Amino acid sequence: MKVAVFSTKTYDRQFLEAANSPTQHDLVFFEPSLNRDTAILAAGFPCVCVFVHDQVDAPTLEILAAGGTRLLALRCAGFNNVDLATAAKLGVTIVRVPAYSPYGVAEHAAGLILSLNRKIHRAYNRVREGNFSLNGLLGFNLYERTVGIIGTGKIGLILAQIMKGFGCNILAYDVYRHPELEALGGKYVELPELFANADIISLHCPLMPETHHLINSDAIAQMKPGIMIINTSRGALIDTQAVIEGLKSGQIGYLGVDVYEQESELFFEDLSGEIIQDDIFQRLTTFPNVLITGHQAFFTKEALQNIADTTFSNIYDIEQGRPCANEIHIY
Ligand code: NAD
Repeated sequence: MKVAVFSTKTYDRQFLEAANSPTQHDLVFFEPSLNRDTAILAAGFPCVCVFVHDQVDAPTLEILAAGGTRLLALRCAGFNNVDLATAAKLGVTIVRVPAYSPYGVAEHAAGLILSLNRKIHRAYNRVREGNFSLNGLLGFNLYERTVGIIGTGKIGLILAQIMKGFGCNILAYDVYRHPELEALGGKYVELPELFANADIISLHCPLMPETHHLINSDAIAQMKPGIMIINTSRGALIDTQAVIEGLKSGQIGYLGVDVYEQESELFFEDLSGEIIQDDIFQRLTTFPNVLITGHQAFFTKEALQNIADTTFSNIYDIEQGRPCANEIHIY
């Protein structure tokens, strides 16, 4: 099948081309992201392949459908960037990669915890400048500290296993109680109890109306002074302005984020020669106790391999008229 691949980086191309050799789809790579201005590039392609920041809204879908696109293959799990109702109306089938790197994301969250606690990001710069002073680098033992995990699905559960290895106590909150978490010795509690007792809080629930700005000024006020907050899930779980106030007052002692509410304007691009206009993001970068990565938690060789293999297997299933387990059905 002819496939137009949008938002292509060199690493995507490398893994997609290698995974395509048995299936021999006709791939054309486009660097720009897909939106209503770039959709015309896909004219004549029955399949379009996109990632997290592509804007597959109604006008974009209408242009794609008019150009002959019948299949949208997402290289990611989330589909909040796709207008599902319009896709259904236009007869565009949607497939996705439901899980590609739960270990990678959980390990990255653990990396943020370790780096922030022991100030490894600051120590790296100091040593390079010949500054071997330890002032300001004081950390704490993770052993016997309490980690609060919000969302204990695939990623949250793996983080619980990792933190158990450090000798931490695990408190958890989820709308569904996973027996595996309790088997590990973790304890489910309601959010106020988790906020009041955790030394570290890590977010692993999906973004939806109920979880939008879950971490707001009210929640922050219930936490232990000096709390460490980690977010590798979705930016809008956190009210960034409220977090900035918490960092200024010292109520928040550490913040580690791999995602940011307005990240589609910034992440995955080299903007090092430009003036960044997002003042909230820029304020975050000024705190010594804030560590930000640009949505790289998923970014492991295993994940890129899994994304490429699953994407082509999804496309092949649809091309052959077979049921595809990763099709998104709209009811
Ligand atoms: P999952 O579906 O396995 O687990 C999500 C858990 O959240 C489930 O146990 C669910 O019951 C729970 N949940 C649902 N609503 C909730 C609520 N209101 N409050 C608390 N918990 C709730 O998902 P996963 O694979 O573990 O992924 C978790 C999140 O990680 C995803 O939603 C995605 O946003 C994010 N993610 C980030 C990256 C990255 O690179 N940073 C990569 C993949 C996934």
